[in-house]
Amino acid sequence: MEQDAAQPQKALPYGRQSVSDDDIAAVVDVLRGTWLTTGPKVQEFESAAAAKAGAKHGVAVSSGTAALHAMMAALDVGPGDEVIVPTITFAASANCAVYQGATPVFVDVEPDTLLIDADAVEAAVTKRTRAIVAVDFAGQPCDYGRLEEIAHRHGLALVADACHSLGGAYKGRPVGSLALASAFSFHPVKPMTTGEGGMVVTDSEDLAQRMRNFRNHGITTDHHQRESMGTWYYEMRELGFNYRLSDIQCALGLSQIGKLDQWTRRRQDIAARYDRAFESSDAVEPLSKRNECSHAYHLYVIRWRQSLADIDRAVFFERLRASGIGVNVHYIPVHLHPFYREQFGTHPGQCPVAEHAYEEIISLPIFPAMADEDVDRVVALIQTCVESSTSAAA
Ligand SMILES: *Cc1c(COP(=O)(O)O)cnc(C)c1O
Repeated sequence: MEQDAAQPQKALPYGRQSVSDDDIAAVVDVLRGTWLTTGPKVQEFESAAAAKAGAKHGVAVSSGTAALHAMMAALDVGPGDEVIVPTITFAASANCAVYQGATPVFVDVEPDTLLIDADAVEAAVTKRTRAIVAVDFAGQPCDYGRLEEIAHRHGLALVADACHSLGGAYKGRPVGSLALASAFSFHPVKPMTTGEGGMVVTDSEDLAQRMRNFRNHGITTDHHQRESMGTWYYEMRELGFNYRLSDIQCALGLSQIGKLDQWTRRRQDIAARYDRAFESSDAVEPLSKRNECSHAYHLYVIRWRQSLADIDRAVFFERLRASGIGVNVHYIPVHLHPFYREQFGTHPGQCPVAEHAYEEIISLPIFPAMADEDVDRVVALIQTCVESSTSAAA
């Protein structure tokens, strides 16, 4: 069909999955077979994800949120415990501690990367601290060298919310090998998808086994016991959930993971194109990238310097949206949400760097299927906002 020139251009989302015919064929194959869930595709996908992430074990679960919850449960995080979380993240990074009856302690972020600030972590450690959730915001790995040192010195568990960063690396080590356990999400906007889905990877056999039980109601899968007691026999040893991922989803994940490297490179190319375009702009400041990191660019986040731009962020945001550019804001600092204010007494002023950044940040479209022309269209539109704002100021 011919494209009508009068038609507005197709809206560009901030992120979108890539699903092709071979992905669909892989799913259909499972649907025609015997095992729709708890079948062979689960282990196959777990092995592939663990290998990609540089870890020994993978535990597939129904979402990134379930992955975070399973990690907290396997670490025995519970009432009276504190879990340190950066406030610039999706709420699930903190909610996982609350599910277990523990208290999330929100810490501030570094101004240039919006990654968890190691000094703030150090200052937040108390006798009750059990774990640190490092969030690889936008796809850039945190400063795991320093975080690991702090965790070790205080006897804390360092876990990664790597829902943005699958495919990235820190000092040449892949995301997934940088913490005691790492959580991934396979929601459609994330680096790869299973529709809904998640995974924890870890080198710890013990944690992996506990999470396998946890995702299946807390039921143990001890083959020896089943042999000695009768094959019907099982024990529910602790309270778990149904957090399983189906074979249908795992087949999609297996097909997707083969393309991850190519997708990461495409995201990095798009980011480099944006970087070049904004190099000489004062009003548009991309977040910093660290040299020791391979950034997975789940998000491409800029700061809109309102004081230099004269158009405030809300107006800038609305102009882009009105032109079919699916910008977004990641994230509202989690400690500002009513739930945390009411239940945990968090308040504005607690994390000033994050609160100030929140006034300026905007996520621009970035996804593997995005064409260079799409990137240029976004850049051109932003350029007109910058120009109209500077001419208005003159
Ligand atoms: C997406 C996301 C989650 C939750 O993953 P779901 O699969 O949507 O449950 C957790 N943390 C971060 C940082 C995320 O971006």
